[in-house]
Amino acid sequence: MMSLEGKKCIVTGGAGFVGTHLTRALLRQGAVVTVVDDLSTGHLNTSAQPTGEQGNASFIQHDICQPIDLRGDILFNLACPASPKHYQRDPLQTWKTSVLGAMHLGEMAVENNLIFVQASTSEVYGDPQVHPQSETYWGNVCTKGIRACYDEGKRAAETYLTDLSRMRGLDLRIARIFNTYGAGMAIDDGRAVSNFALQALQGDPLTVFGDGSQTRSLCYVHDLVDGLIAMALNPSARGEIMNLGNPREHTVREIADLVLEVAGLDVALEFCPLPQHDPMRRCPDIAKARRVLGWSPKIEIHEGLSLLITDFKARLAAGETLAPF
Ligand code: NAD
Ligand code: UDP
Repeated sequence: MMSLEGKKCIVTGGAGFVGTHLTRALLRQGAVVTVVDDLSTGHLNTSAQPTGEQGNASFIQHDICQPIDLRGDILFNLACPASPKHYQRDPLQTWKTSVLGAMHLGEMAVENNLIFVQASTSEVYGDPQVHPQSETYWGNVCTKGIRACYDEGKRAAETYLTDLSRMRGLDLRIARIFNTYGAGMAIDDGRAVSNFALQALQGDPLTVFGDGSQTRSLCYVHDLVDGLIAMALNPSARGEIMNLGNPREHTVREIADLVLEVAGLDVALEFCPLPQHDPMRRCPDIAKARRVLGWSPKIEIHEGLSLLITDFKARLAAGETLAPF
């Protein structure tokens, strides 16, 4: 296994939720980190600010739809809005970020001999007809629905980068990330866990979409970051696609109830229409990540929700304002 000590890492999307945690972990392990982010959904002024730790981080404001030329050892490409509320706001930009961004960064990684860790997603499986989802499943995605800009964008990025590795020797590792949550999420990020936590703490009804019987499997962000770093450092991950997620599956209704239980609050649920093409079941098969990386998530849902709720409480009490989305 390689070590991160002195390694130059580039984290695109490093001002976002996962990117901030990843940047911090890389710095803690001795890496020098350049964060590249256009700040479209990420923030530099939250409690989860990436820069400033150990003085080994720098920040470049840049949209990856434009080419960039950076030297280093490892590139983590996380730049892309991940919450449906954000990626559906400007679907053309979401598509361009996924596809054009991957093309520019892929070329750069080949030219500059970087290890490329691509943040792909469980959304490449769409509304899956196979359960749980393993990496061999090809997926079930509608090309023209409201989620397609993200799902198809990430699929096209996988295709382009895989072809680049075949044709020009890119050292590629693709992580298919399943729903991830944790402290440091934007409080108005719009995803289920952050919505439920914010609503509970504000005493508002928890907005459950549909009847809440659809499922998700929630991974705490620290576990995900360990998996992303393991993919970058383990030579056996070269050329591989791996699911990273927590295989403990919950209905959305259960997630709402868990948030209330952990917060120690009793707030009503409000049932709202299910968005178009909302996947009905999602759960990762992580046998491959266990076998190749020796990785599996460690943080149990009560502990993870408690960390998130404690963080949200502190930030709301400190008067953190909601981003203008
Ligand atoms: P996020 O929205 O918090 O972070 C994304 C970051 O990318 C933000 O800082 C944003 O400003 C930046 N960005 C967006 N478009 C950009 C562009 N064109 N150029 C430069 N920067 C740009 O989302 P996140 O939850 O941290 O997700 C990070 C990555 O992980 C994304 O690629 C996402 O697709 C993937 N992922 C996340 C999850 C999850 O549950 N969090 C699940 C699956 C996949
Ligand atoms: N969801 C919900 N209430 C909300 C936000 C989301 O019931 O306030 C549901 C959503 O319809 C989906 C699940 O929770 O079934 C997870 O949604 P999220 O936006 O967190 O992630 P994704 O749909 O991308 O998995």
